[in-house]
Amino acid sequence: MNYKLLFSHRKLWTLGRRRSTSRLHEGIRVSGQALFSSCSPKVCVVGSGPGGFYTAQHLIKARPDVELDIYERLPVPFGLVRFGVAPDHPEVKNVINTFTQTAKHSRCNFYGNVNVGRDVTINELKEAYHAVVLSYGAEGNRTMGVPGEDLAGVYAAKDFVGWYNGLPNCRELNPDLSCETAVILGQGNVALDVARILLAPINDYILFLQSTDITQPALEALAQSQVRRVLIVGRRGPLQIACTIKEIREMVNLPGTKPEMLPADFEGISEVLKDVPRPRKRLTELMLKTALETPGEKELERRKSASRSWGFRFFRSPVEVLAEPRTNKTSAIRLAVNRLEVEGFTRAVLTGEVEDVTCGLVISSIGYRSLLIDPGLPFDSRKAIIPNSMGRIQHTPGVYCSGWVKTGPTGVIATTMNNSFDTARSMMEDMDSGALDVSAVKSGSQSITALLRGRGVKPVTFADWEKIDSVETKKGEAEGKPREKLLSVEEMLQVAQT
Ligand code: FAD
Ligand code: NAP
Repeated sequence: MNYKLLFSHRKLWTLGRRRSTSRLHEGIRVSGQALFSSCSPKVCVVGSGPGGFYTAQHLIKARPDVELDIYERLPVPFGLVRFGVAPDHPEVKNVINTFTQTAKHSRCNFYGNVNVGRDVTINELKEAYHAVVLSYGAEGNRTMGVPGEDLAGVYAAKDFVGWYNGLPNCRELNPDLSCETAVILGQGNVALDVARILLAPINDYILFLQSTDITQPALEALAQSQVRRVLIVGRRGPLQIACTIKEIREMVNLPGTKPEMLPADFEGISEVLKDVPRPRKRLTELMLKTALETPGEKELERRKSASRSWGFRFFRSPVEVLAEPRTNKTSAIRLAVNRLEVEGFTRAVLTGEVEDVTCGLVISSIGYRSLLIDPGLPFDSRKAIIPNSMGRIQHTPGVYCSGWVKTGPTGVIATTMNNSFDTARSMMEDMDSGALDVSAVKSGSQSITALLRGRGVKPVTFADWEKIDSVETKKGEAEGKPREKLLSVEEMLQVAQT
């Protein structure tokens, strides 16, 4: 046990508890630099999405001696909060305020534009820090594994979402929106985000979108879109749908659209509803009402005037994307008809029957997938996660993980927050028990930034990000939007480095 450290930790913790949180931050700014620059535990976090920021926040609050650096691949922070969350859900992005407080804490530094695994290895980070936390999310996507998946007109939801949210490598996607029917595969919340955006160019809703941070090129493309009908296809039944009630309600109330369900998909559902847990029961009741009930006068009027439609399709799995022979573009999708089999888990089983649905656009929204960023790390390729126990990476002392790379690509920001706090707690337990040795003096960012300089990599600091933020906000103001995002890494670096 490092008693000297324990003493200084306790002393500061007591000091800290006498102050308010903000005073604590201030106090550490003055005393922290001098007291801890050489002997304090140095931790780095890889990735600046919710996983990274919540881990950092918890460590900084609970351990007044920890110094923490965040390394981020892009020049801009916040991960999927910036590049995933739908533009018409601006309230979700308020978490950025909390993340900003953490980033500006005197014991936290942000280094954007650093691609860990390419610009610096995990081993180099392990040398420089007492502990490394991998919170780099899930930047890949599951693939359907069916013929025709690579045809023009087929897109991964990850890329489509990245395109309307200004993710630099999706800038050139230019999705072809010239067809009437779009099919989305998968029935999670991402599928519903995509459906809402595809159906947006209608009257008031496009006006509303104009007041969000959706990119201008996406807005212009959507305004020209010919898509009139969106089918959201699931391999299992209504009782297994993966999205949540709030998102279904948004679909039901989406201006200018009407639902187009198949009553047969809901056969027998009412009878089993009484045994279903309450949240799923309410969600299913909403679908039943939408699919089966005769609407009241007002709703009838609304549906009559609708120019676009959407609907769930159940018990269907993709078999093949079919091409129009002349253009070799997507012309239809062949779906296998499934039945359900319950063996503990309810799974879809093929019946042998297939059906073709005419469509010019297919968006595969069957889940994200974490990638291996450094060959020296353990990786479970089946689950696409880093194998860990409460955030402690197996057989890799001193290295932890949080966020989607720890759990797999499911869970809202609040779920990610909880799993990240757990990881921070595991690390603190290890510091206290001595399982994580924090006695040696470590160089931290000093050696890493020197190394990066030698490799020609110029990190973007949080103050640099604030310059980008300010340019984006100003550009947005001119258009009545909260921001107009810079769309390329080059543009971002140019602003950051002037
Ligand atoms: P991410 O947010 O992806 O952050 C990972 C970070 O790591 C990124 O900044 C990435 O650039 C960085 N990184 C990757 N590789 C490297 C590397 N090699 N070196 C350095 N940095 C790297 N939840 C809600 O509560 N509400 C919503 O409305 C909502 N909408 C969503 C919409 C979409 C399309 C998606 C996919 C998810 C949504 N979620 C929503 C879920 C939420 O976004 C996740 O729970 C959360 O972002 C996961 O956090 P993370 O930090 O693990 O991953
Ligand atoms: P998800 O919720 O896991 O949904 C994935 C969908 O793809 C499911 O319908 C799943 O069906 C289907 N699927 C998976 N593999 C398939 C295959 N091989 N063939 C056919 N279908 C397949 O994932 P997501 O939509 O990507 O969302 C990720 C997380 O982010 C979720 O936790 C979500 O709640 C969250 N999120 C939240 C919001 C919000 O709060 N507004 C918005 C977006 C995302 P099965 O069930 O049959 O596997």
